[in-house]
Amino acid sequence: MNTQTRKSAPVNYFGEACTLEVGVRFAGWEKGSKSSSIIYVDQIWSPEDVGLGEHPGWAPQDATEDVKTANNKAWKKYNKAELGIQSQVLKLAYLNNLLPEDIKDVMEFKFSRTAGCPCGCSKGWVKRDGLRRSIWLTIKSPKKEAERAAEKKERDAAKEILAPSYEL
Ligand SMILES: [Zn+2]
Repeated sequence: MNTQTRKSAPVNYFGEACTLEVGVRFAGWEKGSKSSSIIYVDQIWSPEDVGLGEHPGWAPQDATEDVKTANNKAWKKYNKAELGIQSQVLKLAYLNNLLPEDIKDVMEFKFSRTAGCPCGCSKGWVKRDGLRRSIWLTIKSPKKEAERAAEKKERDAAKEILAPSYEL
């Protein structure tokens, strides 16, 4: 069994009229198993984008212990701000009835850096409920899409400038 569903709703996300899309893939249920529902959030804004933090940068290798400790602290704060941005999306999905009906409290999902893969490539929010289910939350932001289009244009323009040298 492998069913997929898709829903969407208009939402206000950090002051912008966006669309929240929710995709669910359900691949079965095993009683008492360690299987989980995992919610993946496509994070489009960084904390500095929405005024919730500053990127801490990296302490130099030869930094003093004090500097390193302060840098670690700054990173913890930054990562927490990132999670805040993600949990905002979780709440919007829940409040707009976009999540599967059995999810009564989205706060039962706990963030894990290794939710979808032990290497850390797919972070997500996990609940061990015996289900084999993946849920994707995607915010479609006109502002972000314009930003991406402008970046692409810039990359394409840079390619054009580079192109003649390849032809030699
Ligand atoms: Zn991986």
